[in-house]
Amino acid sequence: MRPTYPVTELLGDGIGAELSRAVHALADALPIRLDFRPVDLTLAGRRARGKAAYDEAVEAVEATGVALKYPTITAEESPNAVLRRRLDLSVIHRPVYTIPGVPTNFRRELDIDIIRIATGGTYDDPGRAIGEDGAVSLRIVERRPVREAARYAFGLARKTDKRVTSASKYTIQKATDGLFEAVAREVAQQYPEVPHNVELFDALLGKVIMTPDRFQVILVLNEYGDFLSDMACGLAGSLGIGASANLAFDPSAVVRVALYDAAHGTAPDIQGKNLANPTAIFLALSMLLYQIGEIAIGQAVKNATLDLLREGVRTKDLGGTESTESFTSAVAEEVARRLAPPPKPEA
Ligand code: NAD
Repeated sequence: MRPTYPVTELLGDGIGAELSRAVHALADALPIRLDFRPVDLTLAGRRARGKAAYDEAVEAVEATGVALKYPTITAEESPNAVLRRRLDLSVIHRPVYTIPGVPTNFRRELDIDIIRIATGGTYDDPGRAIGEDGAVSLRIVERRPVREAARYAFGLARKTDKRVTSASKYTIQKATDGLFEAVAREVAQQYPEVPHNVELFDALLGKVIMTPDRFQVILVLNEYGDFLSDMACGLAGSLGIGASANLAFDPSAVVRVALYDAAHGTAPDIQGKNLANPTAIFLALSMLLYQIGEIAIGQAVKNATLDLLREGVRTKDLGGTESTESFTSAVAEEVARRLAPPPKPEA
């Protein structure tokens, strides 16, 4: 019997249905069983059911612990924002790496994991005017989400044998960024085997460009993570090909739920044409597999996808000739080949 893991599938709009079929085809090739529990978050479903659609989604994600979300149309509300609030998704993990076949102006290889505290900073307070000529906003840094993000960052680094860099402006923002670095240091002490260094955020931006190979897991506050993610995606040229994890934690800072999604949208212009590139959703699935502890399978999904791209097996958006279905079959076959048990030696 193959080990079975329940996974919530949040169904979306546009190319979502094609991506879901691709994910199922790939999942069928794995030596484990993913027991998908679909929830309808299409625009039609949300309009028909209102809050009940989100209630069902939240309940399902809480029950399975992991979810894969397909792109959704932002209309009356942003489903991503609703889910973030209702599930208390306080940390975003965004891996950014050079993807073969994706055009980029940057000639160096990049492979970093950005762990961003997704609450607070300057983003929770819109600010207020002071008289006619001034304005002020609050910058909020709280111990709890920093501890959650730091534990996740160090846990990831330990699992993958990497180093953690925490970056902020602690020399100037002494109270807020000072608290962030103090919590990062406290958590670092619980992971003595993981190398940790601290950078000033402005210096870090330059160093990532000049010496990208020095950086692996980077832990940052909300707005810094926002800036760094876009800069790194710009360097990798992979704005639309990446995937991320949105994480919520229990009181002891252990991941309670993890929701994985692709960075791109619903691509209505190519919907139903067998042209959608499933790379981003496969990379999201690979992250989900890491989270449920199936590291070797997660690695096989990621590496098979990237190696095929490198060999020129690509969909049309990347200059290739593959359809969604043929690219998916190629990845599924390659993953199955890599995960096949070695042949028994002759007696
Ligand atoms: P988009 O990412 O959907 O499309 C931009 C361009 O990239 C289009 O030409 C599209 O065909 C192409 N593209 C995107 N994903 C692709 C894929 N997997 N394979 C091949 N080509 C792909 O961005 P948009 O047009 O600005 O947004 C369309 C809709 O998506 C909007 O309703 C928006 O609200 C929604 N959206 C949702 C999410 C999400 O759910 N996470 C994110 C962004 C946009």
